[in-house]
Amino acid sequence: MPILFKRVRELRNYLESVRCDRGKNKLVGFVPTMGYLHEGHIELIKRSKLQNDITVVSIYVNPTQFGENEDYDRYPRDIDRDLAICNEQGVDVVFVPDDKEIYPNGFQTVVMVEGLSDILEGKFRPGHFKGVTTVVTKLINAVMPDRLYLGEKDFQQMVIIKRMIEDLLLPVEIVPVPTVRDKDGLAMSSRNTYLSEDERKSATAIYKSLLLAKEMVSNGERRMNTIRKRMEEFLKSHPHIKKIDYIEACDNQLNIKEEVSKGDRILIAVWVGNTRLIDNMEL
Ligand code: AMP
Repeated sequence: MPILFKRVRELRNYLESVRCDRGKNKLVGFVPTMGYLHEGHIELIKRSKLQNDITVVSIYVNPTQFGENEDYDRYPRDIDRDLAICNEQGVDVVFVPDDKEIYPNGFQTVVMVEGLSDILEGKFRPGHFKGVTTVVTKLINAVMPDRLYLGEKDFQQMVIIKRMIEDLLLPVEIVPVPTVRDKDGLAMSSRNTYLSEDERKSATAIYKSLLLAKEMVSNGERRMNTIRKRMEEFLKSHPHIKKIDYIEACDNQLNIKEEVSKGDRILIAVWVGNTRLIDNMEL
């Protein structure tokens, strides 16, 4: 079984005691999550296990990254199931802080990446990335990992955290992990559990619309307007696709592109029934 810690102090003491082995420094890989683990998280854990001596997984549903009318209260949680998965995967340490540990009384400091946090997801979820960058900084400071494993599924989040790590000189290397998908292409997400059977069927249209964009680009189309229109048409031909928040293309630094080229990425946010899903794909 992995060792479970709820307190930063105890986690640090433990990691300090195992990190240095007869003068040799052990490498620590860190996988921050909000729990309800799925194949996507497991892929991050596997990468970390391969590349490091010690793998730490955190499980914390961070309240500050949820907007007032978002799904914080109903976000799926099952710590026993998560611990069993961590055990199966050979995770060494699981960190499960409570809110007081992360946001003690009197807490006033936030970390914010300006600019990048206001576009795409940030436009529709104001304050979201401020919550993400604040909690990730605190988790990094608690674990002090050598490597940080992040999924490309949350591409904007990854770019923002990369920026933050560079800007704040945090001594950690980011390892990006490609998106893990279900058999029919839907990107794995803890939020997929919200979908009804019918909604789940329609949700594959998100992945298919990204493939459609990719195909258009490989056939020579470069105008994002045309690509977006085609994707919208396709998505709207499916039941339960209620609303499209955005379909945008950007480069690896998250500069929005109207004329796309190979290597750019299409990012999408869609409401399937009452569930908001995001996805992206490299062109
Ligand atoms: P979450 O628990 O949703 O906050 O995600 C924790 C980490 O797992 C983040 O780095 C996510 O990008 C990553 N992740 C979530 N879903 C996937 C997926 N389908 N494939 C790869 N990584 C993922």
